[in-house]
Parts: sequence; C-alpha cells; structure tokens
Amino acid sequence: MSWPSNSASKPGDAEAGIEVTEEFERFAQRDDIFTRAFWDDSVRTPKTEAFFASYRMEATPRRGDGFTLRDFALRNASWLISDVMTDRYADQGRREGFQAPISADTPVAEEKLAIDNPERMSAEIKKVAKFFGADLCGITAFDDRWLYTARVDVRDMSEVPHDLPEGLTSVIVLGHEMDKELVATYPSALAGAATGREYSHEAAIVMQVAAYIRNLGYEAVPSMNDTGLVIPYAVQAGLGEYARNQMVITPEFGPRLRFSKIFTNLPLTHDRPRPRGVKAFCDICTKCADACPVNALPDGPPEVGGKNRSAIKGVRKWTSDAEACFSFWAKLASDCAICMRVCPFNRDFSKPQHKLWLKLALSPVRRLALWLDRTRGKRTKPADWWSS
Ligand code: SF4
Ligand code: SF4
Repeated sequence: MSWPSNSASKPGDAEAGIEVTEEFERFAQRDDIFTRAFWDDSVRTPKTEAFFASYRMEATPRRGDGFTLRDFALRNASWLISDVMTDRYADQGRREGFQAPISADTPVAEEKLAIDNPERMSAEIKKVAKFFGADLCGITAFDDRWLYTARVDVRDMSEVPHDLPEGLTSVIVLGHEMDKELVATYPSALAGAATGREYSHEAAIVMQVAAYIRNLGYEAVPSMNDTGLVIPYAVQAGLGEYARNQMVITPEFGPRLRFSKIFTNLPLTHDRPRPRGVKAFCDICTKCADACPVNALPDGPPEVGGKNRSAIKGVRKWTSDAEACFSFWAKLASDCAICMRVCPFNRDFSKPQHKLWLKLALSPVRRLALWLDRTRGKRTKPADWWSS
C-alpha cells in the first residue's frame, strides 16, 4: 500500500477523547519497548534476556509462591498457540502478531458477496466474531495515524515497509476477556497465564474471522500487537475509554481484557466512540499509579509526549514510563498488570452490585464510588488459586 502521511487531528477526535497536536508523528514500532529490547543496549540487559528466555521451561527462575514450576508450566503452556503462529515465518523475518501482520492462509475468494446493506454486514461480522470466541467487537474507520511507520524484520530488527493491501476502509476491533481469578494474582508467573491464554485465543479468532471475510471475496488482514496501535482503534470503535493505567476501560470487563484487530475493505458501517465518564473518574483516582512498584504511571493530568522514545509524539494522554515498567517485568521474569488488578473498574459487571457501582462511578458522585472501592484490589495468593 502507499505510504500513509503523518497528519494531526481529525473530525471525531473530541468525541473519542483523543487530542492530537501539531507535533504528532506516527509511532515507529522499532521504538516499542519489547522491540527495543532486541536492539537498544539501553534497554537490553541480562535480565531482559532472561525474561524472554523464561518462556522456555529450562530457563524459568523459581522464587516461591506464584513462580513455581507449575506456575511457569501453566503460563508457558498458555502461550503455545500464539507461539506456534508467531514462529512459523520468523526465519523470513516475520514474527507475526507482534512485529508483522498475520499472513493469510486463505486466498481472497474470486466470487465476491454483493453487499447492499453494510449495516447488516456489520451486525453479521459481530455475530461471527462472537461465534469464534471474541468477547467484544466494534468497528471503526481505517485511520492511518495509528499505523506504525513500518514493520520490523526480526532477522536484523530493521524497518521494512508494511505490505498491507490497498483500499482498506475499516478496522474490526475484538476484545478478549482475561481470567478474573488469575488477574487477581498479579504479580506472578501464574497471572501471566491470563495474558498468554488470551494471546492464544486472539491468534485463533482473528485468523478465523479474517478467513471468513476472505471467503466472502474481500481483503482481511489479521493483526494482534503488530502493524498499528490497537488502543485508539478500540476507543474509536466505541468499546471503551482510555484510562490512566494506559488501558481501555470497558463497561463489560473494565480494563481486564486484551484487544486484536482486522484490517479490511469489507463494506461496513462504523461504531461511534462512547464517552461515559471514565476520564473524570481517573482524574480523581490514582490507585494504579500509587500501586505501581516502579512509579511508571503518571499521577497528574494527561500530557503530550513521554519520558523516552517508547512514547508516541503529539498525543495528549496518560503515558507510562515504558522503560521503568519493562524493567520490572524483566525483574519478575513475567508480565506485570498490578495496575489492572487494582483498578476500581476491574469488576464483574454482570453482577448487580457492580452494575450499581458502575452507575455511581460514571456519575457526579464518583468520589463516593472511589471511597466504596477503598478495600478492593488486594492480591490473591497464587497458592490459593491452585487450591481453590
Ligand atoms: S504493568 Fe506493573 S510496572 Fe508496568 S505500569 Fe503497570 S503496575 Fe507499573
Ligand atoms: S486505577 Fe483509577 S486512575 Fe487508574 S485507570 Fe483505574 S480508575 Fe483510572
């Protein structure tokens, strides 16, 4: 596809709570903290190398409850399907789902379905996404501001042009709920199984939904963390609102989910952002920032830019210090999501008492909701998860 140009604000940004300034530059994936860990000596350390190695059983460190043999065994097993998909073209420089979009296993069918009602098609895609296992699905316009400037060839970590097809018009964003009981055990290797399980789920789901679209005769590119930033697409697709902990808070699962996406030219209608008041709540709450062991989250208002090259330029938002955050992950030899665990929105909103709390949190009495949350968010001992 042709090279997208950098561009600043667009109509609809205000509704989505997105503020893009004149300094905006599209983000280079080579600068994301996980990719930097492979080429940037200011990030790459023996600890970060041990972090990546720990996803093989022979290199797992053992440090007591939450980091035992079976904790790492479950975490590493949870990543299996994602790993199989990600590794299959790594020898060609494509670490798919992370540094490159997922290659199509299904050709675009020659016979194209005639679509005279894009609205009905959008409803159908949401039904199909749910059928394959997605917990949430929203659809937004293809916005090239959130595409990375390039993809990364993992053989030498160089930048190479995207190989996306021409004429993409929509992004289908899928949400995947993380296991509530495992999230309650962060930080632990056991909790990492909640992350790995959803990466494995999302790999299968985006590939299957994309295959369905390609079978209808349209382009569809399945994507996980690769190719572009999923968070602004999720917000624009109305799935939730951006929060201080850098996550999208949804009315269904709070921040407790991961997102994947499919780029397509299938004729679809687009959802609208749904601002409900999460930002106003985050303005009075700093639980995530207070709980972060390395002070990687800001406790003030949203700002433009960040502390290092892993922050996107020209977007006013809460931005973490990704270097500090990843240094803690490396120390743990597992991912951390304490800032997800302690968030007051980390609840099961299918329960009436939590639905009521949500109403309060998104209303002018949000301070009462914050006060009601004061004793929640405590860590479950990993051993208790195993014995329960
Ligand atoms: S993931 Fe952990 S280290 Fe990173 S910002 Fe959240 S609490 Fe801090
Ligand atoms: S912990 Fe509080 S400030 Fe942080 S994301 Fe959740 S609601 Fe917002």
